[in-house]
Amino acid sequence: AAPLLSVRDLSVGFEGFDGYADVVDGVDLTVEHGEVVTIAGETGCGKSVTTKAITGLLNEPPAHVDGTVEFDGQDLRELPDDERRELNGDRISVIFQNPLSSLNPVFTIGEQLTDTAQFGGDGNTGILGYFRRRFSSTDRSAARERVLELLEEVRMPDPESVMDSYPSELSGGMRQRAIIAQALLNEPDLLIADEPGSALDVTVHDEILSLLEDLIAERDMSILMITHNLGVARRLSDRVYIMYGGRIAETAPTAEIFDAPHHPYTQGLIASIPRLSGESMAGGIGGSVPEYTDPPMGCRFHPRCPYADESCRSSEPADVSFGEQARSACIRHSDGDSGPVPTLQETK
Ligand code: SF4
Ligand code: MG
Repeated sequence: AAPLLSVRDLSVGFEGFDGYADVVDGVDLTVEHGEVVTIAGETGCGKSVTTKAITGLLNEPPAHVDGTVEFDGQDLRELPDDERRELNGDRISVIFQNPLSSLNPVFTIGEQLTDTAQFGGDGNTGILGYFRRRFSSTDRSAARERVLELLEEVRMPDPESVMDSYPSELSGGMRQRAIIAQALLNEPDLLIADEPGSALDVTVHDEILSLLEDLIAERDMSILMITHNLGVARRLSDRVYIMYGGRIAETAPTAEIFDAPHHPYTQGLIASIPRLSGESMAGGIGGSVPEYTDPPMGCRFHPRCPYADESCRSSEPADVSFGEQARSACIRHSDGDSGPVPTLQETK
């Protein structure tokens, strides 16, 4: 079967003070039915911009988007705005990074989640939303019941009283649970989540991750998740995309990528995971992510890569496949047997 989501040659550029720059450059990615996929990379690698482009949030200047975003056979970028919004509310749910920005501060949790349950997510805006609201067949009390069910399912403490609370009256963890409940109300086929729970303290973040694990196990939902934390990618996903400098460096099934990473950047990231703690993508690799207003020529990783030579500066590495679901973009793969480059430890 065709993938549920298929992104081809996606580029996103911004006109800035320093001129035009592609922040995302030729990204190909897929999410299969029922698959949990993460895009992992350091802050500034283009992962949030990629998902915003997928959800149609960058359809206006100064952003310039190119490429194809196909959802269940429909090209989302060709859909009229109102139809895309309706799809975004019904079949695709998005959880943004900051829980406060996704909840409306002036309505109670009960009011806003019941609206979503009754009228759909983004579908209740515009003229289409007006008619949906006007002629909705779902009644309010059924919608309210559904919200309570979902609040139970996301293990919200005391759901009844949460219904009457305003977002500011809840803890960060409870707000995150409310947002997850809201995202699931319409039983989306695809959930797109940007760093869910990462702004919370370690214990609460961990609870949110366990919750997501359980929801994934119970539902036949596809998930595209962004994270800067490799531990999260390893724990939750079936397959990982490693993003660097606006491009996909490598993708592989989760177990494979952690056992035998091919790309020097992935190898550096995995080597730098502290054994006992955080698993955050931190300073194991010298240098920092490229300025996206002025990305390096050739392989964008070359200023930080221990194997870089002249060819890495002059030409862009092509993807080399390592089996059906794995590929990596490094010039050294095509030397000789196209096997993995030596790990950083071996060369020390
Ligand atoms: Fe390193 Fe060159 Fe491979 Fe880029 S193409 S990852 S610079 S060896
Ligand atoms: Mg981000």
